[in-house]
Formats: sequence, C-alpha cells, structure tokens
Amino acid sequence: MTITEMKSRLVEEIFEWKQKRNAILLAHNYQIPEIQDIADVLGDSLALARAAADTSADVIVFCGVHFMAETAAILNQEKTVLLPDLEAGCSLADSITADQLREWKAEHPEAVVVAYVNTTAEVKALSDYCCTSSNAVDIVRSIPKDKEILFLPDMFLGNFVKRETGRENMHIWMGECHVHAGIQPHQVEGVLTEHPEAELLVHPECGCSTSSMYLMSEGVLPKDKTHILSTGHMLKHSKQSEADEFIVATEVGIIHQMQKQNPEKRFVAANPDAVCPFMKMITLEKVLDALKENKHVITVPADTAAKAKLAIERMISIG
Ligand code: SF4
Repeated sequence: MTITEMKSRLVEEIFEWKQKRNAILLAHNYQIPEIQDIADVLGDSLALARAAADTSADVIVFCGVHFMAETAAILNQEKTVLLPDLEAGCSLADSITADQLREWKAEHPEAVVVAYVNTTAEVKALSDYCCTSSNAVDIVRSIPKDKEILFLPDMFLGNFVKRETGRENMHIWMGECHVHAGIQPHQVEGVLTEHPEAELLVHPECGCSTSSMYLMSEGVLPKDKTHILSTGHMLKHSKQSEADEFIVATEVGIIHQMQKQNPEKRFVAANPDAVCPFMKMITLEKVLDALKENKHVITVPADTAAKAKLAIERMISIG
C-alpha cells in the first residue's frame, strides 16, 4: 500500500467512526494539512469555542491543544471531549498558574481580570472575561474606563490592546508564546525587502507586532499594507484583499488554508521556523485511535467549569 493509499484508508476509517459515535472534528488553523482537510470546523480559538458551544454531536474530537479541549469540555459538561494527544500543551498557557493569578489579584483587588483564551481552566475560573486575539480590543473597550484591568498572559497581545484602546490602567502579565515570540522584527523586515509589493499580516501575539505597530506609526511600514489580525481575520483578509502576495507573521500552519482558499495568490512565511510543536502532535492515526478507544477524555471539575464558563460565555458573546 502506498502512503497516499494508507492515508485515504485512515481517513475513511475516521469518517466511519465519526458516524458511529456521532462525533464532530474541530481543528485549529495551525494543525497539519491532513487534519485541516478532514475537519468539520476549522478555525481560530474563538470560532472553535463557538462551534463547541453549538454542536449537537455527542463526541467532540479536538484537534488542537489541551486548553482548547478544556474550553470545549467546560462548555459541554454532558458531552465527551477527546484530545488525541495528551502531550499537546501550550507554552503560553503554561506561563501563568492559578496560584500566580491569585497573588496578582490580591495586589489589585478591584481589578477586572481579562484572560486570553490560551489559559488553563483553573486560570479561566479566576477571570472575569476570556478573550481571543479577534475580540480582545472589543472586550477591553467594553469595561468601564475607571476600572483597573489585569490582562494575561500574553504581553505582545496585551501591549497591542493597550495601544489600540489607549488604556493606561491596564497591567500586563509578561508571558509569551515561544513560537510567536520567535518571529522577530528583523526577519519581517528582511522578508519585506525581498517582497516589497506584499501585504504584511501580523498576529498580535508575535514578537514583531509591537515593532510593526511602531514602524507603521513612523511611516516605515505602509499603513494600508500592514494588518495586525487574528488567524481567523487573516484568512478573511487574504480572500478579500486585491493583493497578490502576502507575508504571514504567525504559525506557518495557516498558510495551507490560505493557499487552498486562494490558489492564485502567493503566501510567504515571515519566519518559516515558526512551527508549534504542540499543534503538530495530532496525526490521522491518533485521531482514529481517539475515536476507537475513547481517548483522551478531557474533563474539568464542575465547580471550576461553572466559574470558567461565565468568562468564556462573555468572550463568545462579544465580538
Ligand atoms: S502557537 Fe503558541 S500559543 Fe499557540 S498553541 Fe502553540 S505554544 Fe500555544
């Protein structure tokens, strides 16, 4: 059997098992192409949280990382949520623990806590709002101006939101995603020199986002060709824009979908090494095993889930 035949056999089996178990397959834009191609819903964290909240399936197979499967479990206490590889974690979610957040809150007892969705269920349970990069600005704008805000855990996204909203009373946790932090300003500038006509699409978690904003305000980067966007908005923008070429500053997995949706356009990674090892852990074989053997079931204790659900529902309802 050739590799292609083996893969199509695996895909057939996955579809059979999905039907047997009334399962839905949710996949993040950073997953490997084979997984993206068989997903029922493909999207960024917000789109996937919405899909998890709306599904009538009995089983949710989450092709993403642990905190995303936890979010699905929080929204669906009565459903089975499976994560095909338990090792699929997230360096950003690991950058703040519930104890660290408790201490931080104790220092600012009146503050409203806004947690990026890349956090553990325990951290979400201690937060007032969750947000994603698509709606972080809207969520901060919705909070009364006189309220102090604790924004966590991503410092690049936090700085982006602070700049966009002009909010001075916002404290930012110094966490980062090792993949996005690795996309540096000099790399973006180098690729831009090679592709001067391209539009630049930057994820706000990137190490280059703050400098991109600065360079835009200084007129070094053209304002009309530089866009700071969530992955979901990057996909939308690359479809709608009349540009033929784009430099993509985020995890490289998204380029598969961009190219699929726009075969005539050209997409260049700002840093081809921006690969999330956790996202790439999910394979077709593991998805099939998950469905057949009911592994790995992700659960969240009921009291933690109830508290975290409030913050997640606020996120889903805004933006
Ligand atoms: S790309 Fe970064 S934030 Fe996203 S899952 Fe990987 S480590 Fe976490």
